[in-house]
Amino acid sequence: MSPANAKLNAFPVFVRVDGEAVAIVGNGEEALAKARLLAQSSASLRIIADNADAELLAFISLAGAVHVDTAYDAAQIEGAAMVFAASGDEALDRRVAEDARRLGIPVNAVDRPELCDFFTPALVNRAPVAIAIGTEGAGPVLAQMLRVRIDRMLSPSLGRLAALAASFRAAAERLPKGNRRRRFWSDFFAGAPAKAIEAGEFDRAHGAALDLLVSNTPASGHIALVGAGPGAEDLLTLRAHRLLMEADAIVHDALVPEAIVAMGRRDAERLPVGKRKGCHSKSQEEINALLIELGRAGKRVVRLKSGDPLVFGRAGEEMAALREAGIAYEVVPGVTAAFAAAADFELPLTLRGVTSSMVFTTGHDLKGNSLPDWAKLAISGATVAVYMGRSVAAEVAGRLIEAGLSPDTAVAVVENASLNNRRRFHGTLADLPSLEARADLTGPVMTIIGDAVAGANFERSEPLAARRREDTGHEEAASVAGAEGARE
Ligand code: SAH
Repeated sequence: MSPANAKLNAFPVFVRVDGEAVAIVGNGEEALAKARLLAQSSASLRIIADNADAELLAFISLAGAVHVDTAYDAAQIEGAAMVFAASGDEALDRRVAEDARRLGIPVNAVDRPELCDFFTPALVNRAPVAIAIGTEGAGPVLAQMLRVRIDRMLSPSLGRLAALAASFRAAAERLPKGNRRRRFWSDFFAGAPAKAIEAGEFDRAHGAALDLLVSNTPASGHIALVGAGPGAEDLLTLRAHRLLMEADAIVHDALVPEAIVAMGRRDAERLPVGKRKGCHSKSQEEINALLIELGRAGKRVVRLKSGDPLVFGRAGEEMAALREAGIAYEVVPGVTAAFAAAADFELPLTLRGVTSSMVFTTGHDLKGNSLPDWAKLAISGATVAVYMGRSVAAEVAGRLIEAGLSPDTAVAVVENASLNNRRRFHGTLADLPSLEARADLTGPVMTIIGDAVAGANFERSEPLAARRREDTGHEEAASVAGAEGARE
């Protein structure tokens, strides 16, 4: 709650500058910074600077600004819509401010709040949409931090969407006032037109907006299959973050940490569907049906999956079900576990002269008589990333060795890649079977096999083999529920 007396001493307004002159007095860095800010508008810039420094000169010619190349004189600011005193010289700034005031022109003096009629905001520019952040000169660093946060939340194409909205305003005025018109606009900004603009398809956006004008049925929903990355919150993409903040419902797997789900819109419905120890989890058919139901109810849904949604995420089945049901969806990639594990190990997945291909596999297809293709690739030198490989570690190692891969081939294992509690292990293919018996690994585990692994950094890893024997006899609890996390 803000205190009752918390009143703004500066009231934010947007000043029309189109076709107006804006004067900036100063020949150095401060003048350049203001000129750059003002150049985001269509004001015509008049820069009063004798002995302008090289960078400012370059900017003036690039921006097509008017350059008054003589010592300051009050006549030079006449007729301007606003004036910036940015000379860096206190006496001169004061003179400029006094002249401006006498001429009735609002003035801003850089870093001298006592001389200012107005303050310039930190600006998020999605023209014609602008978000101006002001702290009344108290905290420029705070203003910049807020700017970055707000900038991240907003789609880069927001300006285009707003421009399209402006072109539909007259048509929307003809809709019955109240609910019907409100729904047009909320569907416009959250539904098909917005999605089409985001995809860069302007004609389709226009068409979708026309459809909304004539159709009286509620908007259909939209499902985003979103990769949450390997677990660290800041490995989420900006797009994933934005969709989470716009979502009506978040349908997430167990492997996605609570902290990431919590980044979603506060009043979004949260629907866990994945395996978690001791909890009922939904079947794939039930998940498909849930997504279709939410889509039909007109919800904006984020289907949040760990890593990348298209890597062992059963996204194929969900997309097929959505297509068949005629529900719009999109896919947002994420950092897959193999990449996070490689980064944690500083492990080059491709290595010049050593390996130029890589395989993403589960190792769960090694049971049959014939060796799957990926095993042949491993033998010919590909780097192999094994997902969900903990429980089949012995099988994977045994079959690869049997097929001709050297038992000395390097192996790296990462539990909880990207997270603070990550653990790294290194060893050889011969050591790999020991993974299965390890009761101390309760998080998701990524195994990487191949000669490129030798290029990793082993300073922070433990040997895989060392604890082979110690571990037997540990409590068995952790191996319940498949221990390696969701087996999607
Ligand atoms: N779509 C996910 C994979 C889901 S399958 C992705 O692209 O990463 C689940 C398997 O992914 C786990 O069994 C484990 O092998 C791996 N995995 C997921 N997150 C992991 C993490 N943080 N560290 C190590 N392995 C992880």
